[in-house]
Amino acid sequence: MNIPRIYADVNGLGRDEVSLEYFGSLRDLSRMHLRLSEGMDLVVYDSSDGDETMEMDGKASYRNDRWSAVLSPTSFRRVPNQSVSAELLDFPCFHCFHCGTDIYPWLCEHTLQDDTLCPTCGGKVREAVRKPSEVT
Ligand SMILES: [Zn+2]
Repeated sequence: MNIPRIYADVNGLGRDEVSLEYFGSLRDLSRMHLRLSEGMDLVVYDSSDGDETMEMDGKASYRNDRWSAVLSPTSFRRVPNQSVSAELLDFPCFHCFHCGTDIYPWLCEHTLQDDTLCPTCGGKVREAVRKPSEVT
């Protein structure tokens, strides 16, 4: 099984943990139709200057009411940009976890909150980062 690549802000190395609840992470998880679960293997990436991307291996962890990735410090590496991430950075989009509709234009005009619902299908926009206790 391929390990999912999820955007996260890995700038400021020294931390061994990065949040997976910011917009970029949520966008990647929703596009892949992936809901976080405890201990899930992940590759987190962040753009860097030039044409390289920073990557680190990590595991999803739910602590203090937030999802984050616990990173393996020795896994830090730089890889050539992949066309798919460059494309996403140039052309922002956000595909609904449930129906796949690109709701980015709508999100630009609305604040993304914990209970925000997709304007097309009514599903939770933050489905990918639901609290473990809410998932049945
Ligand atoms: Zn939807």
